[in-house]
Amino acid sequence: MSRPVGDLPGVGPQVAARLKALGILVETDLLFHRPLRYEDRTRITPMNRVRPDARVQVEGRVMHQEVVQRRRRMLLVTLADDSGQITLRYFRFYPSQLRMFRVGNRIRCFGDVRFGPEGFEMAHPECRVLGAGTDHALPEHLTPVYPVTQGLARATLTGLIDRAVERVENGQLELIDPLVGLNDLMALDQAVLTIHRPGPGENLDALADGYHRAVQRLACEELLAHHLALARLNRARQRQHAVALGPGTALRNSLLERVGFEPTAAQRRVVSEIVDDLVDERPMRRLLQGDVGSGKTLVAASAMLTAVAAGRQAAIVAPTEILAEQHFNTLSGWLEPLGLKLAWLAGKVKGKARRQALEALAGEADIAIGTHALFQAGVRFRDLALIVVDEQHRFGVHQRLSLAAKGSAGERVPHQLVMTATPIPRTLAMTAYAGLEVSVIDELPPGRKPVTTVAISQGRREEIIERLRRALAEGRQAYWVCPLIEESDLLEAQAAESTASELERALPGFSVGLIHGRMKAAEKQDIMARFSAGDIDLLVATTVIEVGVDVPNASLMMIENAERLGLSQLHQLRGRVGRGSAQAACVLIYKPPLGDTARARLETMRETTDGFVIAEKDLELRGPGEVLGTRQTGMLRFRVADLGRDAELLDPVRNLAERLDRGGADIVIERWIGEAEQFVDV
Ligand code: ADP
Ligand code: MG
Repeated sequence: MSRPVGDLPGVGPQVAARLKALGILVETDLLFHRPLRYEDRTRITPMNRVRPDARVQVEGRVMHQEVVQRRRRMLLVTLADDSGQITLRYFRFYPSQLRMFRVGNRIRCFGDVRFGPEGFEMAHPECRVLGAGTDHALPEHLTPVYPVTQGLARATLTGLIDRAVERVENGQLELIDPLVGLNDLMALDQAVLTIHRPGPGENLDALADGYHRAVQRLACEELLAHHLALARLNRARQRQHAVALGPGTALRNSLLERVGFEPTAAQRRVVSEIVDDLVDERPMRRLLQGDVGSGKTLVAASAMLTAVAAGRQAAIVAPTEILAEQHFNTLSGWLEPLGLKLAWLAGKVKGKARRQALEALAGEADIAIGTHALFQAGVRFRDLALIVVDEQHRFGVHQRLSLAAKGSAGERVPHQLVMTATPIPRTLAMTAYAGLEVSVIDELPPGRKPVTTVAISQGRREEIIERLRRALAEGRQAYWVCPLIEESDLLEAQAAESTASELERALPGFSVGLIHGRMKAAEKQDIMARFSAGDIDLLVATTVIEVGVDVPNASLMMIENAERLGLSQLHQLRGRVGRGSAQAACVLIYKPPLGDTARARLETMRETTDGFVIAEKDLELRGPGEVLGTRQTGMLRFRVADLGRDAELLDPVRNLAERLDRGGADIVIERWIGEAEQFVDV
């Protein structure tokens, strides 16, 4: 068992919390945190050899330092070696820097070179003084640059990883390698050392993009860990029992009379597949795949009625409060008239409301609706026979496993229906959803017209807003999505706020609403309700509306910074419109110039609305080099592996899984899945 990071020297509760946000809980997790890129500090570049737009390391003496007042105040330092000189430019500087750059001091610095008014220069390079007592030796290996998270200094993280790697190097931290001899894989400790301390001769592109043997070694073990964990879960499942429910046909038929539309043939088919499972003692574990707007909610409701007709309870869990709230509204409209009792629970439900909800869940409620708060400690169900997990791809696989475990007090486990709009290419479904039976809704409700999609450069913003004004004037409703610019709720919220005020000024006479992840649940609900009721014409939003939100009258979707989003996210967002009978449109606003991948994504979006085609294309485009900061929309959250890149590892992984002994499997699962393992090894 590896040490929790909180026990490492220099790690207080705050740093530990930040590390946790990166998925780093124990010491060995530090070893699996891969660098974004590498810097070559093994060499000194002579100053007459530096070129613009390169990142280099130079070393020389300070010839001159001066604080000048141009348009801004700045510090200019002239540094020279035997071959030439270079200027260092600082727009922010401290007294300590003035001392560091005292004339005559020997300085080593690393940074980007550009050509400026003073000749070659570096702005804000990293520098250090090479004093008499300091170590002048150059590192022998390349310097990794690690991805960090808000509130965690890169130097802190780098220091921690360095120490862990050092401990591997000197044998204090032993990495048991159960795969040794089973394959021609690189040894685990060697792979770790190569990733964190590559020699100058290593192929850096392969390392950064993940095709390097060292990265593949880790990816392989990670995939193996998931494979083994899921196989264990499945074996445990086979020993479990659920309650065999009655068919409940009458109650389901009364629902169909209420909803006001005819189910599609595909909806009917998947409902009967589900009911066939529910009348059996074997616990159902079924994945319901259906593109956005295909009508999964009705299928979920039908499944839940089957449990209720048998006198038992069903629960539906959504990944966000907005989505859970929306299910609550839809389902109360459908089910309360049938005499059912619904209970609502989310993290924000507190005090008396919470007590009442808990009482209902333990008592007379038929259907529970909420977020994962439904499965926290202290929540007891009277007789939970079915769990529906909506928009599965937003839950991590470990959360899914824990949901399953929480519901399974005692002998019997609830049946499980997992719903997703993210179509998974067949090749990956095995690993992503090992052990789940799959039902597919392969048909949209009649009358849907495919959303027309255009991509427009942000330079034509005025034209775009004019087009929006005309649509609003026709009584249509629209979304304007401002996706994350950085991995930060706060910045994202700010961007959305300023866009909302800009649009409000530009569109007088229309009501503009704003919704983002930092608002209180009640505020969000209020805004969604007003948008649903048509009181808000234009809803400016962050990607909080990405999944599930259903307002049929909204027929226009504007997505800013569309070039930053992945295909499945764009598809999800576009799926918010085109739900009513009006012809819907999606405008992808991008910032030129477009990279090849971004261009291919936008083209795919223009060409097709078919979720499966988009998923296949996504797989082809995604993977290596995807900028950090675009949220991964994968079903499994991997640290090293990437299903797009590593699909061909899946066969060797299955083979390894068969040959590994129980002890080896324990080590691998513990190392990669760790905490969640308790839920796996039932
Ligand atoms: P999703 O699969 O994305 O969760 P929803 O369940 O939210 O889709 O359904 C999308 C919209 O289509 C909802 O407004 C729903 O009431 C409507 N709908 C579902 N099934 C049908 C159908 N068979 N005929 C017409 N409308 C339907
Ligand atoms: Mg849905």
